[in-house]
Amino acid sequence: MERTVLIESSARHVHLTQEHVEILFGKGAELTFKKELSQPGQFQSEQRVDLVGPKNTLKNISILGPVRKATQVELSCTDARALGIKVPVRESGDIAGSAPVTIVGPEGSIDIPEGAIAAKRHIHLTPADAEEFGVTNGQIVSVKTEGERGLVFDNVVVRVSPNFKKAMHIDTDEANAMGYAGETYGVIVG
Ligand SMILES: [Zn+2]
Repeated sequence: MERTVLIESSARHVHLTQEHVEILFGKGAELTFKKELSQPGQFQSEQRVDLVGPKNTLKNISILGPVRKATQVELSCTDARALGIKVPVRESGDIAGSAPVTIVGPEGSIDIPEGAIAAKRHIHLTPADAEEFGVTNGQIVSVKTEGERGLVFDNVVVRVSPNFKKAMHIDTDEANAMGYAGETYGVIVG
């Protein structure tokens, strides 16, 4: 059996706490739904923010909802270099000691002392998918892609939850490295 997964490329984006939504967009503001994302319940909001680093500003960055317990900024290493910050590669939610950045909205701004990361590449699976593939939550696997720039991604973390839909997530640097174009699949090879 080939263990095939759809690969999706995640562009830079921000997750916010409700408190930070209100600082950036005004008292009582809430994230408003624009577009559904592949993972159930997750959405792109209509709101946007700018990110300011020591070297530069990245404008018009997506905010993904719903709100979270901690604000987190997910960047590619190219984005981080443009801003002038150094981001560690981390799993989502693991932000202790990660990079500081300034988030600017129409009504206010916040300097987060940590929270900017490059997301560790990962595969979302349901428990049934994980069983079919013979992998478990937290396992590190390798995923091979085909094509002119085909490559093997090592150190891909498997995440298992009944709330997930089967997909592998990489950032835009990784997508460019593999020649990502439209619907692309990878195969778990180890
Ligand atoms: Zn993901």
